[in-house]
Amino acid sequence: MSVVEKNKVVGIEYTMLLEEGQVIDSTKGNPFVFLFGAGEVFPKLEEGIEGMSEGEERDIVLEPEDAFGEYDPEAIQVIPQQYFGDEVPVVGMQYFAHFEEGNEIPFSVKELKDGNVTIDFNHPFAGKKIKFHLKVTSIRDASPEELEHGHAHHD
Ligand code: ZN
Repeated sequence: MSVVEKNKVVGIEYTMLLEEGQVIDSTKGNPFVFLFGAGEVFPKLEEGIEGMSEGEERDIVLEPEDAFGEYDPEAIQVIPQQYFGDEVPVVGMQYFAHFEEGNEIPFSVKELKDGNVTIDFNHPFAGKKIKFHLKVTSIRDASPEELEHGHAHHD
């Protein structure tokens, strides 16, 4: 019987939770399929899955640095509300900053005060431990094309 290892295409059903138990994502009933060892998922998650067999379940907890990153206080900035133009920013909403190079960086609005807006470029789950309750639903050999492309193909 095959196990999860490099150059296998692996399907997993998972529930992703914050440490306090809040569910933030789930692929139950619709497995996430990826090429193992190709950097499609968090490296520490791959480490935790390696060697599992089909049907096996496991809980894997990732430290913030291995998931969405540490919380960076420097990523909080205060900008004039006029940067938003006519739009009144909404606290808790996510927006995108557009840069000249064409990059789009998401940020969330934390506070509106005296014509200024406090914005936060941290990922919403930065600084959080992330727990995966997961089950391996499929394992197969990757095709030559998949290995060449570095990702799983979905049919
Ligand atoms: Zn491809």
